[in-house]
Amino acid sequence: MTFKYLGIWFDSKGTWEGHIRYLIKKCQQRINFLRTITGSWWGAHPSDVIRLYQTTILLVMEYGCFCFRSAANTHIIKLERIQYRCLRIALGSMQSTHTMSLEVLAGVLPLKDRFWDHSSRLLIRCEVMNPLVIENFERLVELQSQTRFMTVYFNHISQEITPSSYVLTCVNILDTPDSTLFLNTSMQEEIRGIPEHLRSLEIPKIFISKYQHIDCHKMFYTDGSRINEATGFGIFNSNTSISFKLAEPASVYTAELAAVHYSLEIIDTLLPSHYFILTDSLSTIKALRSLPLDNHAPFFLKKIREYLTKLTNKSYQITLLWIPAHCSIPGNERADNLAKIGALDGDIYERPVAFNGFYSASRQRTLTSWQTSWDNGDLGRWLHSIIPKVSTKAWFKGLDVSRNFIRVMSRLLPNHYTLNAHLRRIGIAEDNQCACGKGYEDIEHIVWSCTEYRESRSQLIDFLRARRKPPYVPVRDILVLRDLTYMGHIYHFLKTINIQI
Ligand SMILES: [Zn+2]
Repeated sequence: MTFKYLGIWFDSKGTWEGHIRYLIKKCQQRINFLRTITGSWWGAHPSDVIRLYQTTILLVMEYGCFCFRSAANTHIIKLERIQYRCLRIALGSMQSTHTMSLEVLAGVLPLKDRFWDHSSRLLIRCEVMNPLVIENFERLVELQSQTRFMTVYFNHISQEITPSSYVLTCVNILDTPDSTLFLNTSMQEEIRGIPEHLRSLEIPKIFISKYQHIDCHKMFYTDGSRINEATGFGIFNSNTSISFKLAEPASVYTAELAAVHYSLEIIDTLLPSHYFILTDSLSTIKALRSLPLDNHAPFFLKKIREYLTKLTNKSYQITLLWIPAHCSIPGNERADNLAKIGALDGDIYERPVAFNGFYSASRQRTLTSWQTSWDNGDLGRWLHSIIPKVSTKAWFKGLDVSRNFIRVMSRLLPNHYTLNAHLRRIGIAEDNQCACGKGYEDIEHIVWSCTEYRESRSQLIDFLRARRKPPYVPVRDILVLRDLTYMGHIYHFLKTINIQI
């Protein structure tokens, strides 16, 4: 018996076969659409195709994955194949390209890891928003259920995640900017254009000339730091030096906010006056500038707003000053040091963590799992030697290069392209030799030694010499270095000799 509930097909045997069949059908038309928009010379850019895949197909496949992710591999693999197909379309890869290589090139998480991440996030959220789900799982644990469905829950308990509901309820939204909080980022303008090697010399001078009139007892330097997977913050003032560690999960940004918050606590014990908090974190200042705060704003951000209202009512004035980091401003260096000491060896500064604070830890575990599979795989080793580290960014992310360049390089990177050396390997060509009769037809041969292309090659070498690049560097090494100028010239060469890769 099957029935559909909230868009998911349930079957009485719990195989999820029906739901997966339904997903495949639903995605088919969208896959065809991807193919249509990449099929011609004017086709869409790979980044857009990947984004389109993620928003129109992946979102459909992952909906409700918490339920069906425990389906047998024989079913899940059908969804994985959809992902591979779409990434091949986006990158223009050959059918023979190893599936894991496709995901690494495109910066797209393997589906199983993605499902796992989603499911553990759901459980984290349920801890606060829907405790009934957790209670039901607990009951299954009591009944000693050991099915595949339970693995994600066992993993969840082992993480000892305890999000606080307090963080969501303590919202104190202030709609108007607090008149006693002054945000000053004027240093940003004044140091613009100072060359890197002069920064440590010039910036402290500018700092002194701007702020030497301020009473140093009223200046609090704050900083956050993350080392050895631990986070801490530090505060330096002529009367006090403070270091604290934050319980995980915590980011540098959280630490920067915590430092500002703690400074306000100290200021509250002093006489009302005008105080200055100095931070090198622009995101802290930006966050305080943007109002109103929403429900999901970081805990310390809400607390800072609350504190400011309290201090205003007691006639304090607070200015938050931005100063550049690592520029030999003594107070900033001291705060930076204190933050490091805090991260390594400080006492824990207690704070409640909302459920979304645990998300990044879940994402980190997912990435580690992907990395482990990539490191231990048997296939795609050529690409692994060029791109050893997985990432959720495509290899061409942020590069200003053409669609065709990406397609050619996406074939060269995993060493799967339409030259005889490879075609022979996959049983398509009978011979791996080049038509010139003088060697193995691979990319090295074509670019650097095939006698057919002498003329174009001498042009390529001239181009390279003019840019002080040595010729005859193995193509693989160029790809490892990701030398765009060099890659550009090789691409141009292949185009000139009209070789389709
Ligand atoms: Zn040849």
